[in-house]
Amino acid sequence: MKFELVNLSYATDALEPVISKQTIEFHHGKHLQTYVNNLNNLVPGTKFENVGLETIVRESEGGLFNNAGQVLNHTLYFTQFSPDGGGKPSGKLAAAIDAAWGSFGNFQKELETAGVGLFGSGWVWLAKDEDGKLSITKEANAGNPVTKGLTPLLGFDVWEHAYYLDYQNRRADHLKDLWKIVDWKVVESRM
Ligand code: MN
Repeated sequence: MKFELVNLSYATDALEPVISKQTIEFHHGKHLQTYVNNLNNLVPGTKFENVGLETIVRESEGGLFNNAGQVLNHTLYFTQFSPDGGGKPSGKLAAAIDAAWGSFGNFQKELETAGVGLFGSGWVWLAKDEDGKLSITKEANAGNPVTKGLTPLLGFDVWEHAYYLDYQNRRADHLKDLWKIVDWKVVESRM
């Protein structure tokens, strides 16, 4: 199976000022493209030639896991944003967030705290289990909640390449601003 770079549904400057055109061009056009190319080079000759991306992430290790994980992570990441994003979730997702954290505001604080507290590079995720119960997971490097049997709903990238051109060392400020561009319809569709 050949993996492709996910298309952006918005212009490269459409998420400014939260994510600049320059950051999108490097992050999507260079970093993610490299993970896609590496994955396509690593899969041939392995038992993963005819399986989907999530299966590779769940069952592989080493370089294959790192590149497959980053392709999955960034595909979820770049498709969860919109220039018309922001606001709050609704419906089943809003109810599940309230059940887990008491309020949307508390959930936001918990996710930001998890992201600020993650040492080095990685991701923080909102994930659900098979009963629909939500949790926040912290994943180092290329990690994704699918390796824990969970479904990823929303992921914030805390690798410096995600924010350094725009926020330098201010990871906390970047995470706080990301809420302005989250497309909750997309996140709800992952429930
Ligand atoms: Mn990234």
